[in-house]
Amino acid sequence: MDERTERIGRNEDLFRKVNDQIEGVNEAFGTITGTMSILCECGTLECIEQIDLTVDEYRELRTEPTRFAVRPGHEIPDVERIVERHERYFVVKKAEGEPARLAEDLA
Ligand SMILES: [Zn+2]
Repeated sequence: MDERTERIGRNEDLFRKVNDQIEGVNEAFGTITGTMSILCECGTLECIEQIDLTVDEYRELRTEPTRFAVRPGHEIPDVERIVERHERYFVVKKAEGEPARLAEDLA
């Protein structure tokens, strides 16, 4: 696997783990509105943008280890493709082969 693919993959996984923590905290306190703010899960380490989505949308996203939520325009077409377009975020799915395998291994 080339270094760039790995760096992107590891970065997305890092944000996934942070967002899982956010979801856990959310759950512990019991949400009133049913929405939560997560960090953009794109492959850019410097990105600190947030995405608001419902808890259900988040859980749906996490049912597949190769899916990540990113701000529109933050997708990286050679390692992932857009599978859902929401108003505030896109769901990307890691490309078959090494990018997908890495996302599964790290999950
Ligand atoms: Zn981003």
